[in-house]
Amino acid sequence: MENAKLIQVDEEKCNNCHSCISVCPVKTCIDGSGDKVAVIAERCIGCGQCIPACKQQARSIVDDTAAFFKDLSENVPMVAIVAPAVAAVFDDSWLKLNGYLKSIGVKAVFDVSFGAELTAKSYLDYAKREKPKTIIAQPCAALVSYCQMYNPELLQYLAPAHSPMLHTAAMIREFFPEYKNCRIAAISPCTSKKREFEETGLIRYNVTMIHLKEEMEKRKVSLSSFSPLEYDGPRAERAVLFSTPGGLKETVIRDAPDITPKIRRIEGPEIVYDYLNEIPRMVEENVAPFIVDCLNCSAGCNGGPGTGNYNQPIDRLEARVEKRKKAEIRENKRNPLRNPLKTSLKKFWKPGLYNRNYVDLSGQIAFRTPNKTELEEIYRMMKKHSQEDMLNCSACGYFTCQGMAEAIYNGLNRPENCHQYLKVDAEENLREGAANLANSLISEIEKSKHMFEELHTKMSQFLEINGRQDDALRKSNMEMEELIRNIQAVSSLTEEKRRDIDNLGHAAIQVKKDMQDLLKSLSDVEHATNNIAGIADIIEDVASSTNLLAMNAAIEAAHAGNSGRGFAVVANEIRGLSGTTGKNAGSITQNIKEIISQIGTSLSLSGKTDTVMTDMISSVDTAEKSFSEILKSHTDIADRTKLLTSDLNALDATAETLRSSSQAIIAELDSMKTLIETLGTAADAAKSQQL
Ligand code: SF4
Ligand code: SF4
Ligand code: SF4
Repeated sequence: MENAKLIQVDEEKCNNCHSCISVCPVKTCIDGSGDKVAVIAERCIGCGQCIPACKQQARSIVDDTAAFFKDLSENVPMVAIVAPAVAAVFDDSWLKLNGYLKSIGVKAVFDVSFGAELTAKSYLDYAKREKPKTIIAQPCAALVSYCQMYNPELLQYLAPAHSPMLHTAAMIREFFPEYKNCRIAAISPCTSKKREFEETGLIRYNVTMIHLKEEMEKRKVSLSSFSPLEYDGPRAERAVLFSTPGGLKETVIRDAPDITPKIRRIEGPEIVYDYLNEIPRMVEENVAPFIVDCLNCSAGCNGGPGTGNYNQPIDRLEARVEKRKKAEIRENKRNPLRNPLKTSLKKFWKPGLYNRNYVDLSGQIAFRTPNKTELEEIYRMMKKHSQEDMLNCSACGYFTCQGMAEAIYNGLNRPENCHQYLKVDAEENLREGAANLANSLISEIEKSKHMFEELHTKMSQFLEINGRQDDALRKSNMEMEELIRNIQAVSSLTEEKRRDIDNLGHAAIQVKKDMQDLLKSLSDVEHATNNIAGIADIIEDVASSTNLLAMNAAIEAAHAGNSGRGFAVVANEIRGLSGTTGKNAGSITQNIKEIISQIGTSLSLSGKTDTVMTDMISSVDTAEKSFSEILKSHTDIADRTKLLTSDLNALDATAETLRSSSQAIIAELDSMKTLIETLGTAADAAKSQQL
């Protein structure tokens, strides 16, 4: 039969730390050969130790809680049996849980503690009937699986009776026919119970208390809203302690006090498996106890993997169960509806009903043991070459190096997960890395030496160029100063010329003004001359008329004879005078015309001169503006040149700083070169030491 899966790993969360291997009592059920661990279901005994050990919370229980709720919702008829650990998990509300279970459709709820009472009776019956030397109690399904799968030699000592849960289920099937159509769901503290349920077929659902609680929280169910409800079926007495380490012992000695010293109570995965392995030897040696009251979990079922009580102190858990025990004993005495325990045990007892047979499942483990040669080969792969390399440090999760080697041999792990392997590998890598480092250091040092030499040469060249640059700068500076002086001289000359032009402009304006006055005077003269010319014409006309009159007077005088002789003389004189006057007037008129012509020429020339003067004034004005512009440009040039000079001075200072820095760098380069040479010698020495 294929073993049910009890534990699952969330690969997303698993960081391959192998803490789970470390706590796993059988180890072969965890495949640690990959990047994530995997559980091999057919080898897992369901002890649940790996769940709290996994700090990544990558591990969780596989149970039937989801199927239980789903089937209930589909009206599948069911009864529930509740393990004694219920008091440790639900504290004072353990009876209220019955109310909740019935509210969701569970037809009846039975107390597994009574199954534990039946179990104790089965043991004592077997002891009385068969008189075995040693009985290994088997309430713990993980331990039963261990015996079946890993140490079948122990099967002969396992009590051939059902666990308390299976006792309860068998009792229901036998004595409660009204529930014969019901499936049985176990409210359980344990992962491994699923195995015995599947093996016997008596119980259908393993509903772990932790998942039940989670589901109730999801459904926002609070037990405080339910009333406590009595269990259906018979009630137990002190077997309610079965979930507590030593609970079986306390129950058994109630009925057989004489066997008290012969009961060994033992729990906890760190010791219980080694102890069980020793039982056959102890039986041979006649030192084995009569009953081994053993549990896988240190806190018993009260802290089982299905309770979620990993972090609860054992005393708190036991106090809760003890409180319940006292309440049960009180109620048994007080409640007339409860049958006395003996009556119930008798009523629900049937010989053979609770017997259990075990199957040797060791064949499915298929774990091979390497021979000496194979082991040595694996050790070689693990980089273990001497006894000193066998650290047995448990870092791999196995207790010994041989355990790890066997796991590797069976494909369950790989050498890279061994602490020693990693250490040696790291040392080898370190050595190789150091050698590589030394080589590359030496080569880098060589390169650095060349670089420094090149740098030194370049810095020297730079210094030389810097010197030349400095000279050029200084020369430029001097030339700039000379340029400034020249510009200033040109500027003052230009200013002088500008002033001259300005004066010329003023003079030209004055000349133009004088010229206009002259023009006006000439015009006046021309006008006056024209008037004179008119008068001369009149004189000439008068002279001509006078001449004509004088000629007529002479003719008349001639007619008058002697008496007219004197008059004729006067008339001739007047005629001569008028002729002269006419000639003179003509001559004057001619002269005046020439004068007028000359004045016209003068006027025309003066007009041209005025135009020329106007043009000249405009040119002088333009020239003056140009000179002003030139002067302004000179000022600008002078200002900029001064700035340039100041920049050149700053450049000169920078060049000076650069030179002194360069000299300092060259000095540093020299000392660094010496240092690198020392380093090179050290690296050579280190390399030869490595080799
Ligand atoms: S439940 Fe137990 S046996 Fe199974 S893997 Fe975890 S530690 Fe190992
Ligand atoms: S304990 Fe196991 S399952 Fe959890 S992280 Fe480590 S290797 Fe993975
Ligand atoms: S030395 Fe390696 S193989 Fe040995 S116990 Fe430590 S981790 Fe495991």
